[in-house]
Amino acid sequence: MRLIGTLKKEYDIQLILKSPMHISSGTRQGGYNAILRTSSGPIVPASAIKGKARDNFSKLVQSKCESKSGNKYCTCPVCSIFGGTGYQPARIIIEDFLFVKQDNADVPISIRPNVAIDRYRKVAKDQALVFNEVLSKGVFHGRVQVYFTPETIQFEKELKLSFKMIEAIGTGKSRGLGFVHVEVKDIE
Ligand SMILES: [Zn+2]
Repeated sequence: MRLIGTLKKEYDIQLILKSPMHISSGTRQGGYNAILRTSSGPIVPASAIKGKARDNFSKLVQSKCESKSGNKYCTCPVCSIFGGTGYQPARIIIEDFLFVKQDNADVPISIRPNVAIDRYRKVAKDQALVFNEVLSKGVFHGRVQVYFTPETIQFEKELKLSFKMIEAIGTGKSRGLGFVHVEVKDIE
C-alpha cells in the first residue's frame, strides 16, 4: 500500500436499533436459533456492515467499475476503497460492532416464534415453527478507518453517507426486524 499521499480518517459509528434484530450465529441452542455474540455480548460482524456500505457507496458514486470485465486492478472509487478482486487491498478497516451495555442492565434478548413459510406454495410448512433469539433494543458501536488517496478523498461525503443509508441489518426485514438508525461522527 502506498502510504505517501494517503490521508487517514477515522469515524465513530453508532447503530441504534429501531426494531428488534436477529443476526444468526448459525447455531441452535436450547431449541432456538441463537444470535451472534462473543463473551462480551451481541455483535454485528464487520462483514455485514462492509457489504451494506459497499452497496450503498456503489449506488452513490455510480462508478464505472471494471472489476467484472476482468480488470484485476480496478481504479474506481468502490474498488479503491473497499478492495477489488484478487490482491487489490481494501483501504477501509471496519471492526465488528459491539453492543453497548447499560450499567446493571441485562442484554435485552427475547425469543420469538416464527412460522417458516414454504417459498413456493406460500403455506406454512409442517412442523416448521422455529424460534429465534432477538435483541429487543439497544445500540451497537464500532470504528471505521479509511486510508484515502488524493483521488478517493473527494468521495468522503458519499462514503459517510453510505453508512448512514444502512436501514436494516440481519434477517427478517420483511417481518419488521433489524431496522436501524446510523450515526457517523468524525474522530479528530
Ligand atoms: Zn471497480
